[in-house]
Amino acid sequence: MLELDGLVKAFGGFHAVDGCSLRVNKGEILGLIGPNGAGKTTLFNLIAGALQPTSGTIRFLGEDVTHLPTDALFHKGLVRTFQIPHEFHRLTALENLMMVPPRQPGESLFANWLAWGKVRRAEEEVHRKAEDTLAFLELGHVAHERAGNLSGGQKKLLELGRTMMTDAQLVLLDEPAAGVNRTLLRKLEEKILILNRERGYTFILIEHDMEMIEKLCDPVVCMAEGKVLIQGDFHTVRSDTRVLEAYLGE
Ligand code: ADP
Repeated sequence: MLELDGLVKAFGGFHAVDGCSLRVNKGEILGLIGPNGAGKTTLFNLIAGALQPTSGTIRFLGEDVTHLPTDALFHKGLVRTFQIPHEFHRLTALENLMMVPPRQPGESLFANWLAWGKVRRAEEEVHRKAEDTLAFLELGHVAHERAGNLSGGQKKLLELGRTMMTDAQLVLLDEPAAGVNRTLLRKLEEKILILNRERGYTFILIEHDMEMIEKLCDPVVCMAEGKVLIQGDFHTVRSDTRVLEAYLGE
């Protein structure tokens, strides 16, 4: 589904990503770990089109997407979750989902508005999809609550919901466990697994919570100093001496 080949990102003379080659197969939940400064976030930014690589290539679904910007990748089904923007905190959870632009241009409310009579039906469809998404995430009871009043975990679930509104194929999750309480963490894990196993989503997630990595991810990739150190199942990666050394040197 995704192939990175010799990816490099230099900031001045410093290579934050230094020759990364990686393959993500459809249906995987790939866990990206590594000490602070390893280059994980920079790699995410390259994959999502937020940064342009200095060299190397990125292929998504067989197509060279190396120089495509974020919105073009979004339309192809490669989506990165972002924190709910501050201006959206005043909108309700339901409205936050309804604000997500559709992935297929033909479905856009504006295009349908131009086609006049379709607008109401399109709005109703988006509304229903947003309600279904909230129900799936067990957030139905806070549908009309302002997003700014939700707990850290509920916000993470809502961020996941925003990607579901786009019918994404590959979702990049940046530290989904950060700031989430234990109960909602279990729920978040459960929802990610259902999206993966039953709805065909492929995920790459950066995470420091090793319990979550162990539960969800296969394969696990450990990065250090801009390079892929090792790729394998959780236990192989965790017990590799190079991985231990990389974390000790943090
Ligand atoms: P990680 O997410 O694994 O902690 P990052 O990708 O954030 O690592 O950072 C990798 C390295 O690249 C760090 O040393 C960081 O200081 C450096 N870096 C990241 N972004 C920039 C930038 N815009 N300019 C200069 N250096 C950067």
